[in-house]
Amino acid sequence: MTSLAFVATSQPFITTPPHSPSPPPPPPPSSHHNRHLLSLLTDNISMPHLKQIHAQFLKTSSPPLPHLPLDYHTLFLYSRILHSSAALDLHYADRLLSAIPNPNSFIWNTLIRAYARSPDLKLRSLVLYHRMVADGRAAPDKYTFPFVLKACAFLFAVWEGRQIHARIVKLGFTCDTHVNNSLIHFYASCGCLDASRRVFDGMPERSLVSWNVVIDGYVHWGEFVVAIGLFREMQGLSFEPDGFTMQSIVCACAGLGAFSLGLWSHAYVLRNCQQEVADDVLMNNCLLDMYTKCGAIYMAVQLFGCMPKRDVTSWNAMIIGFAMHGHVKESFDAFGCMCTKERLKPSSITFVGVLSACNHGGLVNEGQRYFDSMVTEYGIAPQIEHYGCMVDLFARAGLVYEALNLVSGMPMKPDVVIWRSLLDACCKLNAGIEVSELVAKRVLKSEGGMSSGTYVLLSRVYASANQWNEVGLVRKLMSEKGITKEPGCSLIEMDGVVHEFIAGDTSHPRSQEIYEMLEAIEEKLVSVGYTPDLSQAHIADHADEKRHSLRLHSERLAIAFGLLNAKPGTPIRILKNLRVCSDCHTLTKLISTVFDVEIIVRDRTRFHRFKAGLCSCMDYW
Ligand code: ZN
Ligand code: ZN
Repeated sequence: MTSLAFVATSQPFITTPPHSPSPPPPPPPSSHHNRHLLSLLTDNISMPHLKQIHAQFLKTSSPPLPHLPLDYHTLFLYSRILHSSAALDLHYADRLLSAIPNPNSFIWNTLIRAYARSPDLKLRSLVLYHRMVADGRAAPDKYTFPFVLKACAFLFAVWEGRQIHARIVKLGFTCDTHVNNSLIHFYASCGCLDASRRVFDGMPERSLVSWNVVIDGYVHWGEFVVAIGLFREMQGLSFEPDGFTMQSIVCACAGLGAFSLGLWSHAYVLRNCQQEVADDVLMNNCLLDMYTKCGAIYMAVQLFGCMPKRDVTSWNAMIIGFAMHGHVKESFDAFGCMCTKERLKPSSITFVGVLSACNHGGLVNEGQRYFDSMVTEYGIAPQIEHYGCMVDLFARAGLVYEALNLVSGMPMKPDVVIWRSLLDACCKLNAGIEVSELVAKRVLKSEGGMSSGTYVLLSRVYASANQWNEVGLVRKLMSEKGITKEPGCSLIEMDGVVHEFIAGDTSHPRSQEIYEMLEAIEEKLVSVGYTPDLSQAHIADHADEKRHSLRLHSERLAIAFGLLNAKPGTPIRILKNLRVCSDCHTLTKLISTVFDVEIIVRDRTRFHRFKAGLCSCMDYW
């Protein structure tokens, strides 16, 4: 054995693709025997065969000298054996690493990568990284960091990731694009969007991947407006977006209900991306989701019809999409087609879809049948979301006691969403103060202190029973505890720009015009018989104040803005964070007929398509 051919272990080799654990050394001019062993290490080697090769290698190689680095040929064979064993038996690979004297970065990286990629041993890659650092003979290199950061991202290990970031700075790898991309991904995955942005902003050189990663991070955490802003910035810098970028942007459009940008994105994919991107099932599933969430269910149907490949997610998008739009029969038909024609096994999300279709249609018996079939036919244990659908279905159909029975028999603790939907139903149905108070107390218990939403519902329960003293008490309690109502917020997209309106908002540059329009609308509607339903403005004291607070509901501001700007014949599309109140619902129906305009509102739970004085929900929401 000679150490002369050895290349200093901590020196990073160059010119390797980023996914490789480090630079594979060029095939060494090894002995005939070593070459023979190397040729046996094929991709589909079995563990017993690998052990034979390992034994043969140990038998024929000279014993390593302590404290001396291994020669080039031996190291290369070790790395190949380690690489193969990592794919077959990680524990074996781990033991092998301990037996290698003076492993270099390449050897360490091979195993760190294997652990980082394993589904359940990611933590082990961090342990190994710390062992490498503590060992001190081989320093982590630019190939090490991406793997450990990936593991940190998966494990939400923010503190460990920051420590690794510090080492990256210390060792001078802050200019490496791939290392920076990994940092951006790590911070974004852990929700540290500011830190992710700082790394991004400080990069001396950005690649398309850096863009993509930072945009994807913002989309993942629901910061859709920021994501779209970054996308525009990226276009300004003449970066050509690829399939990954477009997937993120389509998801952002779905989140914002930004239909025209979504439509543009689809056209962009068809025009500029390769055929396999346009045919990709993930890409098409994102587009389906975008169309259904933007209220364009027929575009989704069209796309679904021409998709070259469909999976359970594609079917789920359609089943849920139909349900959200109140197309109950179509939702059931899609479910039937998926199970019987395509012979796909429905997932638990599929059942959330069909149960919410039952819910929107008020179909209690069908709902019960689908719910029962989950266990009996498909072996899927109902989760809290499915119970939530059933409780809501019972409650909204007026079967409050059946809903309460289901809640008490649930195998898991009912969450606040379930109690809220019960309370919501109680106050909508005028179920009576006793039941409502009982439910409100349970909400209180499950929340450990009421949130603004529950206070608002409780005050509405009292208001619907004309118990204005209690309404006042709830209101006082809210102000004493410093609880403010979650503000209603509506988004409307106009010519590719998303405008956001908060209830009572005056920050829009055209605010004055919008309020004047709102007044004109109300005047016109009053002349055709509209009277505001003041019970919806439950927390204000006087009639005038109530009327005023109704006028400030965010979707009205968005509708007024839409009427001012929309081209004749194009529908006004609005996305709202809360449920539409019944007064705004009545008002929007009237606007659709008086102003001859189609208005599509996506609220927290479903779509309302207002046309010619009617809503697609048939007033059941
Ligand atoms: Zn309203
Ligand atoms: Zn409606």
